[in-house]
Amino acid sequence: MSLPTPTQNKPLASAVATDVVKPSNFLRQIIESDLANGTYASRKWGGSPGDAAHHAKGQPDPAKIRTRFPPEPNGYLHIGHAKSICLNFGLARDYGGVCHLRFDDTNPEKEDTEYVNSIIDSVKWLGFEWNGAPDAAPYQASDYFDFMYRAAEYLIEAGHAYVDEQTAEQMRVNRGDFGKPGINSPYRSRTPADNLARFRQMRDGLYEDGAMVLRAKIDMASPNINLRDPAIYRIRRATHHNTGDKWCIYPMYTYAHPIEDALEQITHSICTLEFEDQRPFYDWLMARLIEGGLLASPPPRQYEFARLNLTYVITRKRKLALLVYDHKVSGWDDPRMPTIVGLRRRGYTPAALQLFAERIGVTKSDSWIDYSTLEGCLREDLELKAHRGMAVLNPVKLVMTNWDEVMGAGHLEPCSQPALPHAPHGASSGAAPEGTEPPPARQFTIGKEVWIDREDFEEVPPKGYKRLFPPSIDGNGNAVPGNKVRLKGGYVIECTGCSKDANGHIAQVLATVVPDTKSGTPGSETVKVKAAITWVGVADGVNAEVRLYDRLFLDAQPDAGGKDFIESLNPNSLKVITAIVEPSLANALPGQNFQFERHGYFVADRVDHVTGSKPVFNLAVGLKDSWGK
Ligand code: ATP
Ligand code: MG
Repeated sequence: MSLPTPTQNKPLASAVATDVVKPSNFLRQIIESDLANGTYASRKWGGSPGDAAHHAKGQPDPAKIRTRFPPEPNGYLHIGHAKSICLNFGLARDYGGVCHLRFDDTNPEKEDTEYVNSIIDSVKWLGFEWNGAPDAAPYQASDYFDFMYRAAEYLIEAGHAYVDEQTAEQMRVNRGDFGKPGINSPYRSRTPADNLARFRQMRDGLYEDGAMVLRAKIDMASPNINLRDPAIYRIRRATHHNTGDKWCIYPMYTYAHPIEDALEQITHSICTLEFEDQRPFYDWLMARLIEGGLLASPPPRQYEFARLNLTYVITRKRKLALLVYDHKVSGWDDPRMPTIVGLRRRGYTPAALQLFAERIGVTKSDSWIDYSTLEGCLREDLELKAHRGMAVLNPVKLVMTNWDEVMGAGHLEPCSQPALPHAPHGASSGAAPEGTEPPPARQFTIGKEVWIDREDFEEVPPKGYKRLFPPSIDGNGNAVPGNKVRLKGGYVIECTGCSKDANGHIAQVLATVVPDTKSGTPGSETVKVKAAITWVGVADGVNAEVRLYDRLFLDAQPDAGGKDFIESLNPNSLKVITAIVEPSLANALPGQNFQFERHGYFVADRVDHVTGSKPVFNLAVGLKDSWGK
């Protein structure tokens, strides 16, 4: 059989191993008991996947356990896969094992190398290494086609499989249902020699697609319908992205998957709950092929956990593909997509996704996770890491009318603020972690004119409003002075009024600067204010395209119960605005995360040269949870 390149024998720690004690779960308990009982202690590893003889020649397996992540390369990975990746790679890491990345590419029609490459990128980006060596080639199920064929011939010879020429419809009817046992196929009692000859003819292309299938011979009356002689090979003339036109018969998933696990000496084969009913066939097949000496013992065992369901999100590749092909989103990596490439462009970090997987844990029963849990993990990761910056999303100009007089005509005063105020490096706390450089402080200037957010000025302030409002006369005829606020990192200013355009809209907010109040200078705190507002200098502010994203669906369970999820698409899931950002943000690199002070976390995106050359920022998540509201 053709096998992937042999890999080293050394188990590798993949991703960041953390010191924190992981909460236990049923899978950890199973693994711990297997390790304590030495269930897999006798296994050998032949250095690469292979049959019983191959592994018998190897050494005792240095990997204490082997898990796998086996995506079908028929789409981009999504947040549900991220859960499975973190789970499988995390267990291998924590128990001295190895996790395999294997493409389950047994279905030639739907698969593509575009997907293969993106899956490799996504797993790597999440922080994991596979197959026991850095940059090892992923395994591919299609490399096992020769073995699968040999195993099928063995099953035929041993009387465990037969070629069935019933039509698909006859097979369906004769399978029975939950209340009704199935009926044996008229072709079930052919001799092994007869079946073998026909199976070889199937392989040699003598029959039309769909003319017959190879079925396991188990029990047509089994209460488990999956054991009523499941089909294991079908005729399908299709070019495979790896094996080309070598085969016109392909193994069925239920037959291929256990064999893939066994050839790779997987110990714990972890899958989602819908495969629970397949487990008896998995075990049946393992037992037959071990009996026949084809596969090494002990066999892998399958365990099921509940798939991730996340509110306001679809986690089915097929449905996500519809959004892409119907242009409901801009592509698989649209920042509204729950794909790993989409989440990445939205500003999600590997650490946030790992934290999310850890936090939701694994269970045996289906439930829905609230989207705010995912957002909380991102905030938690970015709080201490994302550089701060000021951005004005809805700008109005503020003019300091006494500036020229007290500061000097045209004067620009340099200002500076920490990039990471709460990190160990920050202004307020002690020593930086060893070997790390404090990030450079942000530099910007203040002059006569600055941009502020429109919401930071009210002509007639609502009760309790602490930001800018002009002087007025209260109900008792007393003069109320204009309010004072601090321009964050700059000066205290006092509001004096506003000017309006011909339509009565506020054109400029007017204020006076209070001298000697510059942040960080002696005595600057003597003028007390109740609020500090964010701003950007007119002289050095930079225009930026800011994409404000909202949930893609209005329904919390958009595809539950067969609902048409297209109907609940949120028409306002994207709003593009031009904002003004401070100069430190002008040259942000795609993928860099920032906290726009008071607004939320944003990530720099690639500059769109079609619409202009402005820097682009995507809203990742607001500062506070707004999902429940
Ligand atoms: P989809 O339904 O989106 O096509 P799939 O299960 O068919 O997903 P595969 O590529 O076959 O996708 O799956 C790779 C692995 O990811 C499987 O082990 C599967 O159990 C796991 N997985 C897929 N979706 C989820 C999910 N929502 N939650 C947890 N694990 C998942
Ligand atoms: Mg699938």
